[in-house]
Amino acid sequence: MTVSPPRADVDCLVVGGGPVGLLTAVLLGQAGLQVAVVERWPQRYPLPRACTIDHEALRILQAAGIMAEHADLFEPSRGERGGYQFRGADGELLRAIDWNRPAESGWANTNGFHQPDLEAVLEQAAASTPGVSVHRGWTFTDTTQDESCTTTRLTATGDPSVASTVRSRWLVGADGANSAVRSHLGIEVGDSGFEADWLVVDYRPLVEDTWDAFVVQYCDPRQPATAVRSGPGRRRFEFMRRADVTPEEMGREATAWALMAPWGVTPQTAELERHAVYTFRGRWAQVWRVGRTFLAGDAAHLMPPFLGQGLCAGLRDARALAWRLSLVHRRLVEAAVLDSYGPERAGHVREIIDGAVEAGQIICELDPARAAARDAEMRREPTDPSAVKEPPHPRLGHPSITVPGQDPAGRLAPQGRVRVGSKTGLFDDVRGGDWQLVARGGTPTLDEEAATWFAGIGGTVTGVSPAGSVADVDGVYQRWFDAHGCDVFLSRPDFYVFGIGCATDVPALLAQLRAALDTPGGGR
Ligand SMILES: Cc1cc2nc3c(=O)[nH]c(=O)nc-3n(C[C@H](O)[C@H](O)[C@H](O)COP(=O)(O)OP(=O)(O)OC[C@H]3O[C@@H](n4cnc5c(N)ncnc54)[C@H](O)[C@@H]3O)c2cc1C
Repeated sequence: MTVSPPRADVDCLVVGGGPVGLLTAVLLGQAGLQVAVVERWPQRYPLPRACTIDHEALRILQAAGIMAEHADLFEPSRGERGGYQFRGADGELLRAIDWNRPAESGWANTNGFHQPDLEAVLEQAAASTPGVSVHRGWTFTDTTQDESCTTTRLTATGDPSVASTVRSRWLVGADGANSAVRSHLGIEVGDSGFEADWLVVDYRPLVEDTWDAFVVQYCDPRQPATAVRSGPGRRRFEFMRRADVTPEEMGREATAWALMAPWGVTPQTAELERHAVYTFRGRWAQVWRVGRTFLAGDAAHLMPPFLGQGLCAGLRDARALAWRLSLVHRRLVEAAVLDSYGPERAGHVREIIDGAVEAGQIICELDPARAAARDAEMRREPTDPSAVKEPPHPRLGHPSITVPGQDPAGRLAPQGRVRVGSKTGLFDDVRGGDWQLVARGGTPTLDEEAATWFAGIGGTVTGVSPAGSVADVDGVYQRWFDAHGCDVFLSRPDFYVFGIGCATDVPALLAQLRAALDTPGGGR
């Protein structure tokens, strides 16, 4: 980390040193690009934000090398009734969602964590990745672009008379909800119309707590509230601001204590860490790319935090953008592959924003009669979490780099534990591969030209079986193949399925991939 300005020429300039900008820089740096991150503030953001993270995001962090040393930052969801509960005005259970299950990405479905800890690790990882530099205290002001590069002007945050100019092949605006990059490009923002102020309180329990869940949504119209296990040794309460309380009153420490008291959380039983009032909204950028400039993270989408997905979506953006830029930068594919970044990500995240807004509408109901009707309707649903699963993650938006018309294509690929010789671990750690061609049984044989091309883009070819040379230790792959009626899948660097088939479909799958990536000299 440095306060000096970035070099005048880099491959990619990332505006915003939040988690999404930092992860994007790490991934691009690992692929060999020269990357500078510029962050407006000298210190990391101190207030409470993300506290739960899902399995897919952890697989992305695994790919960036973070999980090998920092898995202890994350505390898997646990507790009764699947971990995630909606409770009605009378405190009775309305809906239970199974957040406690192991999930397809090889990590626990949902995990509590402390965002500043993750940001510290990501900043350290960025600063130590060859080719990446992080420059705090620099503010984006404007950018122009031509056929070959972008030219971006920055000013020193502490002294706006000090300016610096950076030329870069690519520019990523990961500069948060009020993105200056997005405004500068004139990109319009869609709005769900949902808006609610909530007080967010982070604390450390000083006594052993007796929570029986991981997340509880208290849908009480007198005072909607959320309780969350927010990572090892931490808890969080969130309280909706009612119309008879001003934002200023809501932000007082005394208000936080008064609202937590009914749960026995008092200065004698807890140490208050931080509290802040936020306005929760559901918004999205209408366009994610203008020429050589891309948006990622909160700059591209905002959602109320009731499903714990805002940061997860941003980490997906980072991975989806980084693999494309890496391949284009190394001239392994044509730049047209960048066109699909926005549509794929926007379609996916819009479904999640809609789900988060829908959850918000359930939780934020202040009218007692409507709340009673909601409770009665939800009581008709089964509350057994094995019956009410978390909805599957959405498919990638359209058009996507996937085989058209195949259902698992565009959905998450599995990661299971495998054993190779004396080593047992998650597939990405043991076998790896940006593009993974995984077959049931023996390893498929590719013709030499296809094998060379596939290895060149970071592909690996693996046969998994119960007791073969790559053993499917927990049967994850066998079950996945059975469920989808196939023997082979080809997955992408962001862990979405490109396509599936049987053993004889392998040459065709690879040909389809070459065509979809618009490989120079191949596929078409
Ligand atoms: C109360 C709350 C609870 C949440 N809970 C969850 C949760 O449980 N799970 C989850 O997944 N998500 C959650 N989120 C969402 C999550 O915190 C955000 O999605 C995430 O922090 C976005 O990361 P980002 O890097 O895109 O943006 P940010 O973290 O906002 O980073 C953007 C950075 O850009 C910098 N910047 C801005 N303008 C400029 C400029 N002009 N020049 C230079 N730098 C600039 C900013 O200083 C900032 O550091 C929650 C959010 C809130 C508010």
